[in-house]
Amino acid sequence: MASAPPFEPVIGLEIHAQLRTETKIFCGCATAFGAAPNSHVCPVCLGFPGALPVLNRQVVELAMRVGLALGCTIQTRSIFARKNYFYPDLPKGYQISQYEHPIATDGVLHYEADDGPHSVRILRVHLEEDAGKSLHASTRGGDGHSHLDFNRSGVPLVEIVTHPDLRSAAEASDSFARLRAILLAVGANDGSMEEGSLRCDANVSVRPAGQSEFGIKVEIKNVNSFRFLARAIEYEVTRQTVRCVAGERVVQESRQWDATLGRTVSMRSKEEAHDYRYFPEPDLPPVDVTDEWIAEVRASLPELPEVRKQRLIRDYALSSSDAGQIAETASLTRFFEATAAVATNAKAAANWVTGEVTRRLKQAGGAVDAVAVTPDALGRLLAMVDAGRVSASAAKDVFELMYGSGREAEEIVLTEGLSQIGDEAELKDIVAGVIDKHADAVGRFRAGNEGTLGFLVGQVMRATRGRANPRLVNELLRRGLADGSGE
Ligand code: ADP
Ligand code: ZN
Ligand code: MG
Repeated sequence: MASAPPFEPVIGLEIHAQLRTETKIFCGCATAFGAAPNSHVCPVCLGFPGALPVLNRQVVELAMRVGLALGCTIQTRSIFARKNYFYPDLPKGYQISQYEHPIATDGVLHYEADDGPHSVRILRVHLEEDAGKSLHASTRGGDGHSHLDFNRSGVPLVEIVTHPDLRSAAEASDSFARLRAILLAVGANDGSMEEGSLRCDANVSVRPAGQSEFGIKVEIKNVNSFRFLARAIEYEVTRQTVRCVAGERVVQESRQWDATLGRTVSMRSKEEAHDYRYFPEPDLPPVDVTDEWIAEVRASLPELPEVRKQRLIRDYALSSSDAGQIAETASLTRFFEATAAVATNAKAAANWVTGEVTRRLKQAGGAVDAVAVTPDALGRLLAMVDAGRVSASAAKDVFELMYGSGREAEEIVLTEGLSQIGDEAELKDIVAGVIDKHADAVGRFRAGNEGTLGFLVGQVMRATRGRANPRLVNELLRRGLADGSGE
């Protein structure tokens, strides 16, 4: 193939996030997930003629939290509109959404990644109701019928629309992850992609590098994991690039990620695109929010993950990746800070929190409260490591015994004989024994293979059940090996 001009991907995201309310956006029905089909419905969310919607005030507040966290301007007046289309899961024949006058506009998502700072402009954040759910014959074990569940109908959503500022699949899935963390941080959304409370559409086009005009976009609908998002975009970028290189046009359409086939497949083309005939919703007044209310909501926002991350880097000299992982949630940050306050070494505290604590957290189902060791107790263990009283590897065993038992590091170290051997006399014999026993490795070390030293250190650690002070072992081994070199 002749050398083609490189093509550049252009990506914009549309994210649908369910707002965390007890009740639906325009009626008093519960939003609880997993209830028996059609058990949370009423004339309003079933779209009976004459039933009137009444706006849930909490929905407005949560949307403001999202808008403000994304640096948007909150509009003191926003307007609901009817988006008209027919689908069996939409009994009214229209979806109530916001169109020309969304509640929040013009924000930006900033974040630091390993390759530097990223900013993704936010076009708008608007309110809308979710539709019901169709359960087709194939998804229901094949009784030959399609079924409708209206429990989701009228569940409150915000749609967040980004500008087409993203330039790679990785940047798109990273941005989605940062957005998710922000939504969780402000308490607006539960972040569950499996339960469908967070969904993402990706708009993807390609253009010859250097061209300012955008190419024709394809919309990938309803991707429900970060991994699939990245894979779907990668697939789509390749597919479109191949077409462009071959001189073919990209068809504007909606596509769907098929995880089994590992590719995107066409859903509907532009010719079949809906004309939604938006018009203002006559049954709802404009949404008016006062400057005081906006100020109140702004003042109530928590520290956001990105800000938290920068603070951890600044205050504790953590690496960007440790800080990012800890800052992801407020509760893990609290756990880390409480540990670091007692431990004398913040870097070690970060290692433990991102390692062992996070591993336990996953086992415990994600709630920091369920981690069966307090930050205080962990901090005291780490302080003992720092003081040279417990070796780093014995600390793992101590932690194991502490976990869930309520026992203290101090007491375990004493009763289990796990204190670090930092006494030269005590280690000398063990080191000599290892040198005797491993003549091969010793020979290789003396022949110039420095790497063998690690193996010998490991043997001493094993002989002491991890209790030896590694620095001292190193020193004694080097001394012992040098002594014998003249033989
Ligand atoms: P539409 O009118 O087709 O819905 P919008 O302008 O509302 O398009 O944009 C919808 C989403 O598509 C936004 O996230 C936007 O960033 C993105 N987008 C718009 N044009 C392009 C393009 N050429 N390539 C990739 N994404 C795009
Ligand atoms: Zn209802
Ligand atoms: Mg649009």
